[in-house]
Amino acid sequence: MRTSFDAIIIGAGIHGCSLAMHLAVRQLKVAVFEQTYPARHASGVNAGSVHHIPRLTAELPLAELTLKMWHGIKDLLDGYDCGYRQVGHLKIAEADEDIEPMHRIAEGVERHCSIKEVHLDRQSLFRLEPELARNCIAGIFSPECGYAQPARTVHGFRAKAERHGAQFFNSSRITNARRRGRVWEVSTAKDVFEAPIVVNCAGAWGEQVAGWAGDKVTVRPVALMMTVLAPMRPVMSTVIGLTRRMLSIKQFENGTVVIGGGYRGTPEMETGHTTLNYSKLGYNLRAATEVFPVLAQGQVVRSWSGIEGLSPDMLSIIGPSANEEGFWHSFAHSTHGFYLGPAVGRVLAETIVGETPAVSLTPFHIARFMSSGSA
Ligand SMILES: Cc1cc2nc3c(=O)[nH]c(=O)nc-3n(C[C@H](O)[C@H](O)[C@H](O)COP(=O)(O)OP(=O)(O)OC[C@H]3O[C@@H](n4cnc5c(N)ncnc54)[C@H](O)[C@@H]3O)c2cc1C
Repeated sequence: MRTSFDAIIIGAGIHGCSLAMHLAVRQLKVAVFEQTYPARHASGVNAGSVHHIPRLTAELPLAELTLKMWHGIKDLLDGYDCGYRQVGHLKIAEADEDIEPMHRIAEGVERHCSIKEVHLDRQSLFRLEPELARNCIAGIFSPECGYAQPARTVHGFRAKAERHGAQFFNSSRITNARRRGRVWEVSTAKDVFEAPIVVNCAGAWGEQVAGWAGDKVTVRPVALMMTVLAPMRPVMSTVIGLTRRMLSIKQFENGTVVIGGGYRGTPEMETGHTTLNYSKLGYNLRAATEVFPVLAQGQVVRSWSGIEGLSPDMLSIIGPSANEEGFWHSFAHSTHGFYLGPAVGRVLAETIVGETPAVSLTPFHIARFMSSGSA
């Protein structure tokens, strides 16, 4: 006899685990299949920044909800500390001509939602971050943002999902899914499982999984690189980004400094391995020391990269299949998936079980990429 579930989730990153938790607390019998182990890919190796992406207005209602959920994440995860710290996010202008566009973007955020953005002149910028280089001239501070420990967060969701009965199958790659009447048959190399609901949480591998429901979209896999410096005395208090250059820096409570910002290595999708690009890592570290000169005294411990999937318009793909009943998506989170994880899991679970979702997922539906002829 085949093993049956109410919902089968493909992928145990933050999206698979958050959704599993939100469905399991609603009494669904949930199975999560992961080709490696939970948090192995982007969700476990990302920069951990929890801040909204101001230029994506369609994402702001979800951003608003997710920030509220992060503020209460310890309660949501039954007292588990996933390392979330609300230290604020600081976006910095290094040139006069960056100030006006930076302010316009911040005003756009405030027009579309209730997330607060505080404009900082040079003096208040240095009051907040005294070790900044003197070429930094202004900033926008988002006090509701912060950072968390990526792998710990995924395991917090996984553990709560398991406490509510969800089953995790590791080293279990799903090789196909096909619908027979109202039920989906989902196959691994060894077994076939059944459920009326299948959810594609396969991250950068989501394009192939979407194809099993006849949904066509091109997802670009990229290998985003990060570097960590050995523990230093406290040198910064906020999560920092630049308006003009690719850079993101934060210092964790143990003194380590994590540097990223979007420089890319090379992904290998079959093996899940990546190759670093050392000259680009060099630009990344140079930019960091130009903004925080004290980091030149830091010692590099390790650089790594993780595989992320980019959708054609850089918005996540979330919601129902355009073709098949019972097939759902939450993938290609396009560099914002970690901070969105808590809210996307909740809103998708609400939608799947027929509750009124806290936020409309319509702007994220995969159907936006398919003309009526191809869907
Ligand atoms: C270096 C780096 C830094 C980043 N920094 C940030 C940040 O600071 N803030 C932020 O918000 N976002 C950040 N991101 C983006 C964020 O990490 C991702 O958007 C998010 O983790 C995606 O989560 P996911 O669950 O969709 O995908 P993943 O974490 O990739 O999980 C998908 C899982 O599906 C599994 N899978 C795939 N196919 C199958 C199959 N057929 N069968 C079984 N399992 C399968 C994979 O093995 C994988 O474990 C960063 C990403 C990277 C790589």
